[in-house]
Amino acid sequence: MQPNSSASSVSYEIKNPSKYMTLTYVMSLALIAILSSIVHLVLGRVIDEQSQTGTIINISGQQRMLSQRASFFTIEYLVSGSNRSHDIAYNAIKKMHRNQVALIGYPDTTKKIDRLKSLSPELDALYFSAPFDVYKNTKLFTQSIERALAVDPLVEKLPFDIHSFDFVMLARDSLLDGLHEVVNQYEIEGLNRIEALQSAQNVVFWIMILTIFLEALFIFRPMVSKISRYAKRLQYEAKYDALSGILNRGAFTLLADNAIANAKQNKLPLSVIIGDIDLFKSVNDTYGHVVGDEVIKSVANRLHECIRNTDILARFGGEEYIILLPQTTVRDTHLLACKLRQRISELVMGDDEKSLSVTMSFGVAELISYDLNIDQLITRADEALYLSKKKGRNRVTIG
Ligand code: GH3
Ligand code: MG
Ligand code: MG
Repeated sequence: MQPNSSASSVSYEIKNPSKYMTLTYVMSLALIAILSSIVHLVLGRVIDEQSQTGTIINISGQQRMLSQRASFFTIEYLVSGSNRSHDIAYNAIKKMHRNQVALIGYPDTTKKIDRLKSLSPELDALYFSAPFDVYKNTKLFTQSIERALAVDPLVEKLPFDIHSFDFVMLARDSLLDGLHEVVNQYEIEGLNRIEALQSAQNVVFWIMILTIFLEALFIFRPMVSKISRYAKRLQYEAKYDALSGILNRGAFTLLADNAIANAKQNKLPLSVIIGDIDLFKSVNDTYGHVVGDEVIKSVANRLHECIRNTDILARFGGEEYIILLPQTTVRDTHLLACKLRQRISELVMGDDEKSLSVTMSFGVAELISYDLNIDQLITRADEALYLSKKKGRNRVTIG
């Protein structure tokens, strides 16, 4: 990682996004849930409507059949005097009456609402207007049947004129035609209602699909990329020092432990350099903390320039740096530390009016067989650094 490069390229701020995201997420899901519920309800209505329509068509169809049945058995009763025929005809007209109430309510009532009960203008016309007058004809029919059934054919003289009863003609012509028209009309209206509901259901369904698609595109996709940006940012901050852009101490320790395990396994040399800016406190005191920060960054950059890609550089503390050098003996490490000391002392920072330079002290140590982890190696390098400071700073000491 180039020192500071990522830190400066990541410009977005980290605010706590969870509240906003949760709200957006919940609202998006709620919208989908509402639309799904509407589709579900409309489907329920379609099923309801289908069964109601089926029942109504069935009842209106029964009226046709009952009129024929009542008529047939009444004639048979008048001819034979059979009680069975009398009862069948009588039951048929009772059932016709019940069916009519189920279909149109009680039209004789003074309450207008009952008369208009769920009847379309077309059905209203069929029931209550010429030419079919189904309501009036049904009434005339049942009254005529009742009159005929009141005759006792065994007592009264046979043969009498069957055609003196209206029901024969009604059953054959006008009532039958009217009932036929009623069935047709119920069928048409039922199918129309179901079709309208199905269209509404389709519209809501496609609105729901579109909503899901738009939410995926404009809400969930940006949300996922926002979360992944935050995740990357957090990963970056967990690994890199925000000021200098080089690795932080935690990331260094993890990498160093792996490098040590590898060096031990393959019996390879491995060394470490710890460097600390000399008298940095006076830099802060003289030039201020902002300049002090600039110095910390510039030193990190200069150190980074001088090492190999395989070396691991990290900010170890305030103005303290550490470098892990895999496959490097203490002799080569000492040479590198000397070069670093030289290059840092040559570094000129600040502007022309107020330039400054710093020196650094270094401690160097190599991994030995009984080092168990990086801490023991660091302790020896730290002691060597302490000696460099003690001996007057701006120098390299081998631990
Ligand atoms: P020595 O040569 O013995 O190391 O002396 P020193 O002044 O460098 O050491 P000391 O530990 O007394 O002071 C280190 C200073 O570094 C103190 C602290 O305020 C400063 N410092 C630590 N981190 C930062 C930082 O991130 N930015 C700035 N500007 N200063 C820092
Ligand atoms: Mg210092
Ligand atoms: Mg220090």
